[in-house]
Amino acid sequence: MNIDTSTDSDPGNAFTAHHAAETVARLRATFNTGRTKPLAWRKQQLQELRRLLTEQQDVFTEALHADLGKNATESYVMEIGFLVKEIDHTLRHLNRWTRPHRVWVPLALTPAHAWTVREPLGTVLIISPWNYPLNLALAPLIGALAAGNCVVLKPSEVAPATAAVLAHWLPRALDSEAVAVVEGGVPETTALLEQRFDHILYTGNGAVGRIVATAAARHLTPVTLELGGKSPAVVEPGADLAAAARRIAWGKFINAGQTCVAPDYVLAIGEAGAAIESHLTEAIREMYGADPARSGDYGRIINERHFDRLERLLEDGRTVTGGDHDRSTRYIAPTVLADVDPGSAVMSDEIFGPILPIVRVPDLDAAIAFINERDKPLALYAFTASRRSKRRLTSETSSGGLAFGVPTAHLTVPGLPFGGVGESGMGSYHGSHSLDTFSHTKSILDKPLKLDTLAVTYPPYTRRKDRILRRVM
Ligand code: NAD
Repeated sequence: MNIDTSTDSDPGNAFTAHHAAETVARLRATFNTGRTKPLAWRKQQLQELRRLLTEQQDVFTEALHADLGKNATESYVMEIGFLVKEIDHTLRHLNRWTRPHRVWVPLALTPAHAWTVREPLGTVLIISPWNYPLNLALAPLIGALAAGNCVVLKPSEVAPATAAVLAHWLPRALDSEAVAVVEGGVPETTALLEQRFDHILYTGNGAVGRIVATAAARHLTPVTLELGGKSPAVVEPGADLAAAARRIAWGKFINAGQTCVAPDYVLAIGEAGAAIESHLTEAIREMYGADPARSGDYGRIINERHFDRLERLLEDGRTVTGGDHDRSTRYIAPTVLADVDPGSAVMSDEIFGPILPIVRVPDLDAAIAFINERDKPLALYAFTASRRSKRRLTSETSSGGLAFGVPTAHLTVPGLPFGGVGESGMGSYHGSHSLDTFSHTKSILDKPLKLDTLAVTYPPYTRRKDRILRRVM
């Protein structure tokens, strides 16, 4: 792997493999002191992070607006407020989640006690993307700190304002000997990936996910990969289609479609196909007005590269609504496309923008076949009044998450693990599942030496010992 950092705009400040090694060594030294292990330290870090999020709320909101044109309410609901809730949930349950767990001991081993304890992994790397640049950097950080780890956080260079705010504030608010923020792009991440970590959690696209997994394999480092994909929204004719359209429009066009769990396309069954077109048009109008370009609630595309990629997809079907775009402001209207060819570009890769194609299928069998012929999605949504359809979608398809009646909201249920399967990722986090991800569950057995009940298992073996062992095993 190339670790030359000469592409850095300021070679004097280049973050080289040497700096990466130094950073990891510093955090590892902290971890080895044992300072991060006590629950008191972990809780204090979480409380400090909470304080930072609430006290510097305006700074974070401004950064999110600068990067993505995010409305302040949206930033609160999807990022800042979400994180505060995740911290509160973690603080409330951390004692219970970290308690030793007693397990049953087989008769042949008695007297003895067995139990499990969670121990932190050590020094972990979190690599985050640009689309929810605060949430996707700090939600994994909450789990990693709660589990007692040291953390290197690499925010996305594609959302530079948020990355700068994180780099400035986190070392001031948290234990800077245990948490380091490394700003930068490919060279810096490459330099970090040369190092040995005890876990890597990466959120982003699958191509880079493969780079991360390859680099991690060299050190036998476990990885959590939070990837994306095309998440379908199945719509059945018997459902309340006006309500379904509002929910789909909300989940799709929030953050201008740049949401990993946004409905990527609508899979409309039978006569739902025609009806959903007009309901979606109406829902978009209700939410963003006649000209969404003038709505303060509608975001912008992150950069020109993504704008150009999305602009090409606008040609891939009949425009039901939207289609307007302006490169100078990186604006693309909420767009619905119908009569879309399943082989077209818009139906090939994850759209990750405000374009919603509608694909029509005759029945649920065809919808299930359509889903199963493709990569396993990060999320599957269905809008149906039929319990049988819900049961069939649950048992006959595979996806990271499955939600009926509402897109994206399953992320906000703290008890639900968030993660993908197959091409949409591996591993999961949120709530107690973050503890699972960032801890090792150690097995402990304690058998007193006094009563040597094991003598029967020692050689030389006799017929008597054999008889006893076969009975008690
Ligand atoms: P991105 O461009 O910000 O990249 C993500 C991270 O990878 C960044 O920190 C970046 O510096 C690093 N990176 C980029 N190229 C690299 C390379 N060659 N080597 C090492 N590191 C590199 O974000 P993105 O990938 O454009 O994010 C969008 C994708 O992420 C979409 O597919 C989306 O579905 C997915 N996503 C998934 C989730 C989830 O939780 N499952 C959440 C958000 C986004």
